[in-house]
Amino acid sequence: MSTNKPMPVPTEISAPFWNGLKDGKIVIPHCTACGHWIFYPRRHCDRCFSHALEWREVSGAGQVYTYTVTRTPTLPDFADEMPQKLAVVELDEGVRINTTLVGLAEDEIRVGMRVKPVFDATGPDGATLLRFTGVDKDVVLARPDVADALPPAEAALPRRQIRVDDDAALQALVSDTFSGWSNEIVIDQALIDDFAKLSGDDYWIHTNPERARKEGPFGGTIAHGALVQVLVSRLKMPLDFEVTGFTNMLNYGSDRLRFPSPVPAGSRIHARARVKSVERIKRGVQLTMELNVHVVGAERPSVINDLVILYM
Ligand SMILES: [Zn+2]
Repeated sequence: MSTNKPMPVPTEISAPFWNGLKDGKIVIPHCTACGHWIFYPRRHCDRCFSHALEWREVSGAGQVYTYTVTRTPTLPDFADEMPQKLAVVELDEGVRINTTLVGLAEDEIRVGMRVKPVFDATGPDGATLLRFTGVDKDVVLARPDVADALPPAEAALPRRQIRVDDDAALQALVSDTFSGWSNEIVIDQALIDDFAKLSGDDYWIHTNPERARKEGPFGGTIAHGALVQVLVSRLKMPLDFEVTGFTNMLNYGSDRLRFPSPVPAGSRIHARARVKSVERIKRGVQLTMELNVHVVGAERPSVINDLVILYM
């Protein structure tokens, strides 16, 4: 799984900092002439101009110096991180670092609050970003490859077996309440481009980021509704039942398919489902499952699909 997010490019001067993060350490330059700590990495001390610098590990303990909450992605690729909590963290050594706060609700963030580092191994080759969270928080960041795996909920759930001829048990599945959320996946521009090629729908609002940024209504490209719809196959929902005792199961199509809100390129999506109706018909049992796909964090679904499954 890739994303199009721009990643830092280590330079000769900054490489020790980025390599340190990969190892779960924060190392920053320290001036052996005057004792000053330096950040961002430079060749000389910004206080006494000495070149006698050495890299030293620090704990990463510090406090929020200032922060802001941004709701409009600077690039479409960041849509899955909205709202983003951008902050300047001041380490106890005195240096200030531009960063992102994670694992904190907006109303939990205060200037001066104590924070600790979170090593976000987000990029290919283990490229790691330095983020921060509250000292009392236990943040586990979803890695794209991990998020692609089944949610633990699904693996762990004892599934009730419901026989296809048990009408009462089938009717009891019908509910207004949705299941828990599925795993999450990222829809990046590369995936959208592949789908444009496959389907022949290469309209610029999907495939031309520059034009979509300038002329489009969404500030960037968006995924095809049909693409988001088919990706449901990769979203494993934690359903707590399975129907048994049938000879054939058919995907009989859709009673309703709507795309109520766009999925900007770079968005992370997930899905949930509910059994909308169960009907005994001449050929067997027809079960209608309402699937909703959302951009993670968005209240409004991007896809509503009333999928009809026929058990015969
Ligand atoms: Zn110095």
